[in-house]
Amino acid sequence: MKGRAAQLKRTAKEAAACTRCPLYRHATQTVFGEGPVGAAIMMVGEQPGDQEDRAGRPFVGPAGKVLDRALAAAGIDREKVYLTNAVKHFKNEPRGKKRLHKRPNRYETEVCKVWIDKEISLVRPQLILALGVTAAQSLTGRRTIVLSRERGRVLELPDGRRGMVATHPSAILRMPDEAARRAGFSTLVKDLRMAKQLSAS
Ligand code: SF4
Repeated sequence: MKGRAAQLKRTAKEAAACTRCPLYRHATQTVFGEGPVGAAIMMVGEQPGDQEDRAGRPFVGPAGKVLDRALAAAGIDREKVYLTNAVKHFKNEPRGKKRLHKRPNRYETEVCKVWIDKEISLVRPQLILALGVTAAQSLTGRRTIVLSRERGRVLELPDGRRGMVATHPSAILRMPDEAARRAGFSTLVKDLRMAKQLSAS
């Protein structure tokens, strides 16, 4: 385990210097995953957002706060989960003083997959939960993912590991009204509970 943890640190250092796709040019830094080697659950989001880009840590912005609440409601300790993203640099478009999120394209997601593959091989989770469509596409290699059809069930990933798909917390924040956000949140909690159960079995 110690050897794998050291290797993960070295991999994070390598990723910090990554220039494999153009996204590094407009971001502050690489946001590598964080969490313990041997974590039972790995959660994979789309990409770092504005606050993650500045802090250099995944899921510390508004979506991360939603995830924290959902993890607490599902009885999952964030410290025991490995959290990462399909793409490690923040893709954005400057608009005045703001930087607007831009969804990574297929090329960027595919090129960045090398880092998730390394994270998976070193962390060796029992279950990988894709948060949102981009992460699900990256992990399954499938072009089309219909979240409403895939969520709530177990998927076999190409490497034989068990996977699941759930709504990305940022999609919950974008839902049009409070009732929709509440329903989206309880669905996420339900999926996290299922992930917890599966990762322990
Ligand atoms: S997004 Fe991924 S592949 Fe592209 S430069 Fe950043 S770390 Fe490298």
